[in-house]
Amino acid sequence: MVFPSSGSLTGEAVAVVQKCLNLDITFFDTANVYTTSEARIGKAIKGRRKRIVIATKSTSRSREGVEGHLNMSLERLGLDYIDLYQFHQVGDFKSLEIVLDLKGPMAVLEKAKKAGVIKHIGVTSHQIDVAKEAVKSDRFETLMFPFNFIACEAADELLPLCHKHDVGFIAMKPLAGGALDNVTIAFKYLFQFPDVLPIPGIEKPREIEEIVHVLQGSWEMSDAERSEMQRLRGELGNKFCRRCDYCQPCTQEIPISTVMVIKSAIRRLPPERLFTGMFADAVEKTADCTECGDCEERCPYRLPIREMLHESVQCFQAAKQKYDKSVGT
Ligand code: SF4
Ligand code: SF4
Repeated sequence: MVFPSSGSLTGEAVAVVQKCLNLDITFFDTANVYTTSEARIGKAIKGRRKRIVIATKSTSRSREGVEGHLNMSLERLGLDYIDLYQFHQVGDFKSLEIVLDLKGPMAVLEKAKKAGVIKHIGVTSHQIDVAKEAVKSDRFETLMFPFNFIACEAADELLPLCHKHDVGFIAMKPLAGGALDNVTIAFKYLFQFPDVLPIPGIEKPREIEEIVHVLQGSWEMSDAERSEMQRLRGELGNKFCRRCDYCQPCTQEIPISTVMVIKSAIRRLPPERLFTGMFADAVEKTADCTECGDCEERCPYRLPIREMLHESVQCFQAAKQKYDKSVGT
């Protein structure tokens, strides 16, 4: 159900995984590209393998690349098999064609599956038309796709299609990549859909406790919660970054999706994490934006990226000023 976010420190990540296990959460999703995530999960699950389901993924589209990533994942996780291995971010029809080719990287995964090194093969995508074709191909056992009450396009056709083709649906971004703070409404919305497995990125053990609390209570939304959901849809609907990174590459190497989540990071992170490291670096880098607009052409959601980057940087600077004043610097 969960993966420790790549921003977590090792001790915190291990504590998150162990907290999940203590709460009977047994599904953990990670990826080759989530920097230290696989190694941290490996450390946390040591000696507890039997009751755990591990999912990971590769962005490679070559046989050699996928084989190398699979071996690296096994080593980092300290495992002799992986429950679910996914083709990561299959975002266009060309990529889908490559991963479906039985002489391509799929051959590596089919062979690994026969040998028991992986148990199931899945795919992840942010593009609904590509996702639908992937499901229809009947070659994948799971699909991971963004799903939350703001990005809810999967509900209409994709989820029923998954049911029809017996493909498991894993909901990425259940909290809209950090844009949604109201955990109760976010999860009550998702729990309406049977057989949807949400995978929230968790920073702190208390965050998973909050989600489990919703899971254990009534899933019915009150009228007040429904109105709040509609209000949030109105507020965030057209200005919500899915963190898919299709806007990349930026010629100035601006980490666009990182800058986009700064407003939520301001609410969630302690100042020592916020004002140093990746967010501070990202803000500094954003000053190099040439306003070329290429990223906006590539964004499938047609977000006004330049305007949003500007707003995020302004929020960051205001929060920093406030913090500096409070500590007298
Ligand atoms: S700006 Fe658009 S393309 Fe870039 S990460 Fe966000 S949603 Fe994806
Ligand atoms: S508008 Fe700015 S952020 Fe977007 S691609 Fe150009 S330089 Fe990068």
